[in-house]
Amino acid sequence: MRKTKIFVTLGPSTFSRSMILRLIRAGVDGFRLNFSHGTHEEKEEIIKIIRDIEGRRKLFIPIVGDLQGPVVRVGEMEDLPVKRGDIVYLINDVKGDIEKKEVPVPNEKLYSMIEDGDVILIESGRVVLQVRNILDVKVKAEVLVDGVIKPEKTLAIKGKDIPLPTLSDKDVEDVKFGVEKGLDYIGLSFVRTARDVKGLREILDSLGGEDVKILSKIETKRGVENLKWIVKESDAILVARGDLAIYYDLERIPEIQRDIVRVSRELGKPVMIGTQLLDSMCENPIPSRSEVVDVVAAIREGVDGLLLTGETAIGKYPVESVLWLNRIIREAEKGKIMEVEPKEEELYDRFAHGIVQLSESLGAKIVAYTRKGTTAYRLARYRPNSEVYAFTPMLKAARQLGILRGVKAYTIDETDPQSAFPKIIDFLREKQEITLGDIVILTAGMTAGATDIIRVEKIGVS
Ligand code: PGA
Ligand code: MN
Repeated sequence: MRKTKIFVTLGPSTFSRSMILRLIRAGVDGFRLNFSHGTHEEKEEIIKIIRDIEGRRKLFIPIVGDLQGPVVRVGEMEDLPVKRGDIVYLINDVKGDIEKKEVPVPNEKLYSMIEDGDVILIESGRVVLQVRNILDVKVKAEVLVDGVIKPEKTLAIKGKDIPLPTLSDKDVEDVKFGVEKGLDYIGLSFVRTARDVKGLREILDSLGGEDVKILSKIETKRGVENLKWIVKESDAILVARGDLAIYYDLERIPEIQRDIVRVSRELGKPVMIGTQLLDSMCENPIPSRSEVVDVVAAIREGVDGLLLTGETAIGKYPVESVLWLNRIIREAEKGKIMEVEPKEEELYDRFAHGIVQLSESLGAKIVAYTRKGTTAYRLARYRPNSEVYAFTPMLKAARQLGILRGVKAYTIDETDPQSAFPKIIDFLREKQEITLGDIVILTAGMTAGATDIIRVEKIGVS
């Protein structure tokens, strides 16, 4: 069984029923919808398609709604092609005149913090400028990397966080939509502090989305600096390498990635790595050697999942990308994963740790009955070699558990663990997940939030 989960971002390349079906057949475990692009209508349609396929195929598929978050954008202007050495002027206005080489960037905060020598990245570095002079009402900048400056593209200062509110009005509208349409995770972009996460939690709770989980995207300098606190406050973590590589020099990304994975795993939070895993597959049907090496490294860090972005959103070979990820994961999982020392464990975490150790010494499979999913999160934290089957009475919890490494989740119509166990065994035998002679460890919590029951069974003749 493949343990590392495959998540993909849907976009123009994959916005159709047939594509979504092909992606699921190729091995996709979860989908990401990006609120930075497209309309609510279009997303609603896609969610309906996923839920329909999910129901027909008796699957549980997590859907992440990823917020745009705080970004600075270029205002209104005509396309301005620029060459290395050209001079342009950033102006604090909504409109710019390309005859005067004006690039409108309507944002007070930007001008209060910009300094001589700052490197400015437009559209994630597609065009790069460097500040040469701060004039009274405008900023003179020299072009370092050729390209075309286009309206409404994102703009960032390398190594600096522009202090903007975490959630814009648009983001709040998107959260509301996400709650109404039953999304499982909300992706919080450009997280800077644990307070940002708490802010989203409050908004979710006030909108009736108490059961929606938060996937915090680590992609800014302050996000990295406040990592531990952010991880503690979040339900899951995404190493968002696209934007991370704007704030940090590229050669630092591997180590920062490893640190984010380590801290998330230490504190028992699921963690995914995303962006440019198989980037060349946007154009080609097979990955490059270096991409395969990078993906293997990510898997060996013991992540819960990998997230494709451009490859499946705008690439030419979305299905092939998933098939390749699947192949690489299966091979890479034959090796050992990075060892991580769990930190700040509570009583029930240690109980779960004991169950994982016992499963290994007995060669047993683990079956967990979990109301909201907590027991499954606890078990996955210890990266069991054996399979974990999680059963929950809550549909949303079953979907959310799809993010966890090595966990297969199902729903069960039963509110008491002791009466659920025999039904679960029958179900797993039926599916041929367990057979005669298998040893199964059954676990659950007697009270809400606990993991404190253990039973060991040898599967006999039924
Ligand atoms: P994005 O996030 O695609 O929303 O920018 C992913 C990343 O930054 O890597
Ligand atoms: Mn990003």
